[in-house]
Amino acid sequence: MKILIVEDEVGIANFLKQGLEEDGYDVIVAGDGKKGYEFSQSQKVDLILLDWILPKMTGIEVCKEIRKTDTKTPIIFLTAKDTVQETIEGLKAGANDYIKKPFSFEELLVRIKIHFRADQEIDELTLGAITVVQSKYQILLNHKEVVFTQREFELLVYLIKNKDKVCTRNQIIEEVWNIHYEYDTGVIDVFINSIRKKLGINKEELIKTIRGVGYIASDNV
Ligand code: CA
Repeated sequence: MKILIVEDEVGIANFLKQGLEEDGYDVIVAGDGKKGYEFSQSQKVDLILLDWILPKMTGIEVCKEIRKTDTKTPIIFLTAKDTVQETIEGLKAGANDYIKKPFSFEELLVRIKIHFRADQEIDELTLGAITVVQSKYQILLNHKEVVFTQREFELLVYLIKNKDKVCTRNQIIEEVWNIHYEYDTGVIDVFINSIRKKLGINKEELIKTIRGVGYIASDNV
């Protein structure tokens, strides 16, 4: 599990890094907001500890920017801003949690684990004989690994997470491709066909086409 610390006070950053590494986490540190945002995009980060007052971009700006494309990675504010109003502002910007400085490292560790636990509970997804292990980016068919591209992986995960619900083409384009405007959704079919081929399933099995609407994943179809 990799944690990104965005903190401009070197002493605090080092203290956090050391403590978290001792607890078995991989840690990267960004010393300003801009770098923090860049790392959140370029590295595969599982959780972000975010200071508020930072050079170049504030923590609030970083948080909002991240949330434009990533609604899932847990973000915990770790800040000296301690009023109720500020706490609300931080949470409204998209943070999952808000810890005030000075903080107890033990409490921080517990809170980090809670966020990871919530994640792990949905780490494994199943559809028929297919198992998806999200943390490992792994797709197993009858316990044998099938190699997927990242987009195929994300598409399959999205459909399974919405099992037994019809996913419209527009929903799929918005959620999987992160495109928020009208777009030629024909690209979805190409990926669905490729996924079906890799899993050796036909149109009537597991991932069914709803003509003119979209797709539905179900164990029962
Ligand atoms: Ca600061």
